[in-house]
Amino acid sequence: METPRMPDDQPLRRIVIVGGGTAGWMTAAPLGQLMGQGEHGARCEIVLIESPEIGTVGVGEATLPTIRFYNRTLELDSAEFIRKTQATFKLGIEFKDWGHVGNRFFHGFGEFGPAIQNRSSVMHWLRLHGLGGMDSHEHWSTATVMARHNRFVPPDGDVASAANAYSYAFHFDAGLYAAYLRDYAMARGVQREEGTIVDVSVRPGDGFVTAVTLADGRRIEGDLFIDCSGFRALLIEGVCRAGYHDWTHWLPCDSAQAVPCARVEPLTPYTMSTAHGAGWQWRIPLQHRTGNGHVYCSAHISDDEAGRVLMRNLDGAPLGDPRQLRFKTGMRRKAWDRNVVAIGLSSGFVEPLESTSIQLIMDGVGRLIELLPDRRCDRRLADEYNRRMTQQYESIRDFIVLHYKLTQRDDSEFWRYCAAMPIPDTLHHQIELFRQSGRVAILDPDSFAEPSWVSLFLGLGLWPQRHDPLLAQIDEQALRQHFQRLRQAIKQTVDAMPDHGAFIDRHVKAA
Ligand code: FAD
Repeated sequence: METPRMPDDQPLRRIVIVGGGTAGWMTAAPLGQLMGQGEHGARCEIVLIESPEIGTVGVGEATLPTIRFYNRTLELDSAEFIRKTQATFKLGIEFKDWGHVGNRFFHGFGEFGPAIQNRSSVMHWLRLHGLGGMDSHEHWSTATVMARHNRFVPPDGDVASAANAYSYAFHFDAGLYAAYLRDYAMARGVQREEGTIVDVSVRPGDGFVTAVTLADGRRIEGDLFIDCSGFRALLIEGVCRAGYHDWTHWLPCDSAQAVPCARVEPLTPYTMSTAHGAGWQWRIPLQHRTGNGHVYCSAHISDDEAGRVLMRNLDGAPLGDPRQLRFKTGMRRKAWDRNVVAIGLSSGFVEPLESTSIQLIMDGVGRLIELLPDRRCDRRLADEYNRRMTQQYESIRDFIVLHYKLTQRDDSEFWRYCAAMPIPDTLHHQIELFRQSGRVAILDPDSFAEPSWVSLFLGLGLWPQRHDPLLAQIDEQALRQHFQRLRQAIKQTVDAMPDHGAFIDRHVKAA
């Protein structure tokens, strides 16, 4: 039998990135590293277009631990990155007033101790808790104990030790991070064009985008267009009409006001999320200031009142007036359509509650690189990309909806709506699975893992009625002693750690 011949190679000649916000530059940097004019010479031109007139969304300061892998892939120097972006370390999120007014819990990054006989530590803790006499699970989360004491050092040592059972991410100034990546990308051959796109040319027949035209008449052609134009979704919606899954019935917040305030001491290594009557407020500590924002549902509170709530709840002097933002929660039906791939806010927005947008940008870029097309932009590649993005978006959506659904608050129309609203079937399954069996379904390997789900379930007051029968094989007293020793080890480890602010001053700024 004759071997099938491969069709002619048609490598991409030019990739055009539309937009220079966090998404645009986070896309340009790894593409520049891989395909720009690096040591191997020019292989594919990469052009990024940004409009100073339109500007960027200007928020997005909290991240998830995978940001470290992204930075490492680019071979960024970690101390330089922290200095240039005014970054601080993030061990997780403290939630206040979510389950009920006065409720407080922590979603920390990492495990609750090492696994025992192939079952996670927190599952054994749940068994002991059911038998009585156990303190809060948070004592066994190294990240949470560190956060409560404002301590920080990077994890180190044996994988199963208390000094290694946590992970961390960063808070940073999004504008400075984009500027840092811009310098990085341009040093690797990415070309930057300033201007506002006013027209888009499309090829008759297959509807592929062939060029964009700027207000001054310049025309920029390309083979692949990456739409990083933010909520405008200039190409993916404006030209491709890819459609949008509207999730506002599950995630009804549609507005935000953001304002920075002066830094106060201590410099906390975590994000704070405080629920209010019709939404919630973030607090993100940076080295030079604290970022704050009130995310709310405009059907339940006026913009004026939302602004007053925000300003009343700052812990430092405001450094400006609040900036108004509007959004619609949901995701693009197809993030990749023809030769257009949407990355960033143009692909969707779930809510900033768990800092997932930058994560979705990183994963979007990573998948695009894995599935990089040639000039034909094979539809199968787009289908696979869309399948994986949809799976991740939906799993993040379920995790975020959980925060609202499990509330016991009934002090406002907004919270009564959230507690009573119907939820996606996948989330209903997740909640009932945990309630009835103490198990957690992992719906997508690239989003939240078991410890995150358990932190939220327990923090919001959902307890399992039964547990995995295999857990009972371990002797109860021996297990109690194990947990006692572990708690002591975590406490001693954390007591020996430096203060978070002092660690940045001594080890990062001085480096
Ligand atoms: P943008 O920043 O809006 O950039 C769009 C770019 O496209 C700009 O450069 C603009 O000039 C350009 N552009 C648009 N139209 C044209 C045109 N016609 N011609 C030329 N250029 C054009 N994410 C997190 O991970 N953590 C958080 O804590 C977080 N908090 C958030 C809070 C709020 C209230 C909101 C709304 C979002 C938050 N996000 C957060 C999301 C985060 O801000 C975004 O994911 C991130 O900033 C990426 O935005 P973007 O680059 O897609 O869009």
